[in-house]
Amino acid sequence: MSSKIKLSTPHMGGGELKYIQEALETNWVAPAGENITYFENNLEEYLGQNLKVTALSSGTAAIHLALILAGVKKNDEVICQSLTFAASAFPIMYQGATPIFVDSEKDTWNICPKCLEEAIIDRISKGKKPKAIILVHIFGMPAKMDKIVSLAKKYEIPIIEDAAEALGSEYKGKKCGTLGDFGVLSFNGNKIITTSGGGALVTKKQALKEKAIFLATQSKDDELWYEHSNIGYNYRMSNILAGIGRGQMETLHAHVRRRVEIHQFYEKLFKPIESVKIFSEYNSKIKSNHWLSCILFNSKSKRNPLGLFNHLKAHNIESKFIWKPLHLQPIFKENEFYGDNNIAETIFNTGLCLPSGSNLTTENKDTIAKVVLNYLDA
Ligand SMILES: *Cc1c(COP(=O)(O)O)cnc(C)c1O
Repeated sequence: MSSKIKLSTPHMGGGELKYIQEALETNWVAPAGENITYFENNLEEYLGQNLKVTALSSGTAAIHLALILAGVKKNDEVICQSLTFAASAFPIMYQGATPIFVDSEKDTWNICPKCLEEAIIDRISKGKKPKAIILVHIFGMPAKMDKIVSLAKKYEIPIIEDAAEALGSEYKGKKCGTLGDFGVLSFNGNKIITTSGGGALVTKKQALKEKAIFLATQSKDDELWYEHSNIGYNYRMSNILAGIGRGQMETLHAHVRRRVEIHQFYEKLFKPIESVKIFSEYNSKIKSNHWLSCILFNSKSKRNPLGLFNHLKAHNIESKFIWKPLHLQPIFKENEFYGDNNIAETIFNTGLCLPSGSNLTTENKDTIAKVVLNYLDA
């Protein structure tokens, strides 16, 4: 049998090895060194707008530090998009705070501005003004930032923009990750670029970056000995992994272009098929990096996501269900949820993510097309 076609795997291609070697030769293997500085500079240049980037051990760590910097404490409430990976919400729990989940809208799959405002108003009426809003650009698709930012301003609530899946996506000419009060990136193995594991926090001010580094390196006070007045974390990225990140930055543009091409391949493949719709940009002012290409089955169709999942699996092709909404997860079953039409749940029930790695070959695509059409026509 031919080798497995995976959903999304690491794709090396720049000077990764050179930078790792440099780190080893100069013995800068700890969470300090040139690679970290360069990797952060590369990201700052890429994102623009004079933003400050702090390289961390994961995207989850970046969300946790963003919550701390936003002042989220025990018993606070934080609003979070329900249709996302659990890592968007877990750090709220690390702080002893409570996630309040909000439904998605049909065209973006991201947080529904109308439901968001309903949630904010209702929480305020209960004496619990949310301390932060975590929004996500799911699968790389930009959320409706204009509306969400204006709500956040109106109610004076900071936005944590979980752009873990959206490096390279754009909203009205601005890069995702730069649109909230705090931006979060992930360099996990399956993301657009990877450092094997890693993440970054994007802040507007140097002072916030310094605070993030302080917290991420065990909150050591300025003394000759180990003095601590705050809780600290071990969240800084290692200089070796930052070397991989530097190499990956050299291929970021190419990787995004490849993912967009893969999405175009799927658009063409599914165009004649009435029962399936491909998830695409909802207007021309936004650009998804198409981290993962996703489809939705018409609920009246005889075919369904599980059927295609199993059919692909039988042909050694990996696919993945859409993130199961967090308000439906056992761990969050007591948490409040705001939404009227179960959009996130419907997307979960009728959707599937297809292989989208930037290293997918033409041969892989031919195989996928054959197997998919074979299932849909059968
Ligand atoms: C991957 C991911 C994260 C977590 O990033 P890690 O680097 O794996 O900790 C958070 N949110 C979303 C939406 C993600 O896809």
